[in-house]
Amino acid sequence: MDRNRAWRLWLVVVAVCALLRAAGQMLGWPFLAYETVYMTITCGTPLIIVAGILLHRPARPAGWITLAAGQVCYAAADVNYSFDVWTTGGTTEPTPSDVLYLSSSLLAGVAVIIFIRRRTPGWDLATGLDALVMAISASILSWEFFIEPVAGDSDLSMSAKLTEAAYPILDLMLLILAIRLVLRSGGRSPAVRLLLGYLLLMFAADTAYAIVGLLGGSNTTEPFTGATWVVSLGLLAAGALHPAMRDFDSRSQVAAPDATPARLTLITCSVLMVPGLQFGEHLAGRAVNIPLTSAACAVMFLLVVARMAGLVAAQRRAADTDGLTGVRNRRFFEETLATECRRAARAGYSLGLLMIDIDHFKKINDTYGHPGGDRVLRELARRLATGARAGVTLARYGGEEFIAVIPHLTAAELLPLAERTRKAIADLPVEVTDQTLITVTASVGAATVPGPVADPAELLRAADEALYAAKSAGRNRAVIAPEVHTPAPTRS
Ligand code: GH3
Ligand code: MG
Ligand code: MG
Repeated sequence: MDRNRAWRLWLVVVAVCALLRAAGQMLGWPFLAYETVYMTITCGTPLIIVAGILLHRPARPAGWITLAAGQVCYAAADVNYSFDVWTTGGTTEPTPSDVLYLSSSLLAGVAVIIFIRRRTPGWDLATGLDALVMAISASILSWEFFIEPVAGDSDLSMSAKLTEAAYPILDLMLLILAIRLVLRSGGRSPAVRLLLGYLLLMFAADTAYAIVGLLGGSNTTEPFTGATWVVSLGLLAAGALHPAMRDFDSRSQVAAPDATPARLTLITCSVLMVPGLQFGEHLAGRAVNIPLTSAACAVMFLLVVARMAGLVAAQRRAADTDGLTGVRNRRFFEETLATECRRAARAGYSLGLLMIDIDHFKKINDTYGHPGGDRVLRELARRLATGARAGVTLARYGGEEFIAVIPHLTAAELLPLAERTRKAIADLPVEVTDQTLITVTASVGAATVPGPVADPAELLRAADEALYAAKSAGRNRAVIAPEVHTPAPTRS
């Protein structure tokens, strides 16, 4: 069979089983008949996941193996539960099925965490904060509607209460992980969408089942929750069968995703949910746990403020950074140079300035195109930044021109540093395309102020003249400007 089509075929089987599961119960089929249809998918899911792993051989199968293990627990729980219902017509909690269901949720959670960690470089604190806000909001709802009623039910034993409470808690955990999976940076391949569909439908079906249970409901809704479980598990197995499962957890290039409108809407809804709940319960004349909801509101507010502070800091960083090369931009450099000059004048230390201009850069653009030129700029910026000593501010000063201010640099150190900088560029070829290495050279103009510092403009002019001299002398060389001296300050 075509290995890229298997997942579609499986989804057809899932759709048929979901329909038969719902219709069978509604049409009054015997329990074993519609339950067998359901079991086909439940027991088939771990097998299909293993088949997916064998078929597509992902480089890092740990997440998928954990999911398969979770689904083995789930299938065992279903078999046990159905057997109990068939033989005794129901059991008291906690049953072996409960333990198996809860273990399967835990394993699914571990698997999703493995995927999230693989997909995202770094810790992505921003998404962590967003998910925490949503988790708090959802926890309050879960507490109010599911956990507290169970906790207050005097008919239940302690272990039954703990079992009943564990379900919404674990479902909530899966929902939050699902949100994290989509909010985090990283592609949205079909495998991610199928996994997400599984998590969301599982949450929806479990929640519907719990609500019906709490309302003391009959099993008129059971055909639908049963069918939803079938589809949810089916989507999970389809994700494992999809060829995109091989690399859907490959690393994203983006460390911290943006605050998109969708994300802001989710956060806003989460934050407003709790006061909304308070108000709704007030209107309905029901008591609300005021200390709990107030504390939740306060914590969510503080988390949102922390998130805002992070966004402001990121915006500020972006405003100071050159988008192409990642080094500082000209505006930031000019402010820093002025500050450094004042500081050096106050403390009486020397300052050095290097201006670096790539030779015949236009030719590189003409030969390899703008993308080739950009690649050279990025690589040279990386080399200059790696070689810079502490305290140096390096910036992109113009199109193919870099500049660096170096505090405490003496006149004797200036030429060796300028020469080292030139060699760092000229001595190592640069990859201008995936197949082509070229030698790139640059001219360096250097200037220093030995004592109380000159006006920044003086220093810039001296380095610029030295750079011009280096170009005129044939390029690929470093030229030192005559020392810049500050006119003595006038005393009144
Ligand atoms: P010289 O040796 O005299 O410095 O010659 P040059 O060709 O390097 O100098 P010139 O200043 O005449 O040309 C600079 C070129 O840099 C012109 C412009 O198209 C190109 N450039 C400016 N910004 C960028 C950029 O962001 N990416 C790329 N690829 N090229 C850029
Ligand atoms: Mg230039
Ligand atoms: Mg140039």
